[in-house]
Amino acid sequence: MQMLESAFGNFQLRRFPLRRRETLRAWDAADEYLLSELAEDVAGQVLILNDRFGALSCALAAHRPVMQSDSYLSAWSTRENLAANAIDPQSVTAIDSLTPHVVDYDLVLVRVTKTLALLEDELIRLRPHLKPGTRVIGAGMVKQIHRSTLELFERIIGPTHTSLARKKARLIHATLDPSKPALISPYPMRYRLEGDDLELVNHANVFSRERLDIGTRLFLQHIPADPGLRDMVDLGCGNGVVGTLAARANPGASIHFLDESVMAVASARATYQGSGLANPARFILGDALGGMEAGSADLILCNPPFHQGQVVGDEVAWRMFSQSRRVLRPGGELRIVGNRHLGYHIKLKRLFGNVEQLAANRKFVVLMSRCQT
Ligand code: SAM
Repeated sequence: MQMLESAFGNFQLRRFPLRRRETLRAWDAADEYLLSELAEDVAGQVLILNDRFGALSCALAAHRPVMQSDSYLSAWSTRENLAANAIDPQSVTAIDSLTPHVVDYDLVLVRVTKTLALLEDELIRLRPHLKPGTRVIGAGMVKQIHRSTLELFERIIGPTHTSLARKKARLIHATLDPSKPALISPYPMRYRLEGDDLELVNHANVFSRERLDIGTRLFLQHIPADPGLRDMVDLGCGNGVVGTLAARANPGASIHFLDESVMAVASARATYQGSGLANPARFILGDALGGMEAGSADLILCNPPFHQGQVVGDEVAWRMFSQSRRVLRPGGELRIVGNRHLGYHIKLKRLFGNVEQLAANRKFVVLMSRCQT
């Protein structure tokens, strides 16, 4: 457990889910910069957008902030870190990314997101809740803040400038321009699947929100149709295209859509409901397969993420694959699509003792492992 030292106190913080031999901290130089900039100068109603693991929420809990996030893992880490520091969980009002704001804010702290569309959607929804004197401070690592990021603040909020970089972190200061017309969010976006009448609904933080991913396209050709299937899982469902087509191919099976993004789960629900299919369906917000019981699925379909927030790597994919072993019934299948270079076949072989390549093109492979016990 590591200690964040700030003008608001010292806090022991961890990232959830916990990992053995964790090497990454639960905060970064951008959180530190933001907290040192505020020092103790915090008053009125505070909003924290996209706190990553709860560092900002813990530090500012005494000011009873609202914390808004699209991520189940961020909300979970925040709850755990508040508890670990003996902070009353009620002191932070956690709302998800699709919950409308009900109060106006005096101070808004924005952790800049990797997906610019999410930031755009958040700022557009936030704008009616800013007052002429509201301080809006964005924070991120230098590599996360681009000209396009500043242009978003400028276009949606008003005059914007950045601070000098400190430990490779930067702050963005934006002031409300009340003369700007209110904007309507362009999200969710919708598009039709090529050669099909299925409409895909995509909230702002959804993978491939403007067109189908080429890996997913290959994957869709390898969804099995098997009357023996009872329970199928779309793991990391995004807009729900994979699970919806699996449900269509297997009208006798239930489909379970899982994702850690609130917007992904809402998108999958909207896509599925618009499809007119009648399979029993569940929509579960959570980490990997945490929401599924052991031995409860016959087929898990997964196009795993290659990053979690700003962290790049195959750790989440590995967690998804190993949890699949727990959740599959004997004889059940895990089917995945991934970039060739990621070497997922080695991991699957190690976990399941078997792996079969169902398809491949220049960039992607579709692999299948069967649960033998
Ligand atoms: N299945 C969709 C498709 O093919 O278009 C989306 C695939 S996208 C590559 C990976 C998905 O995994 C994203 O929707 C992301 O939000 C989700 N994800 C990332 N980390 C996760 C986690 N820990 N638990 C569950 N889902 C996660």
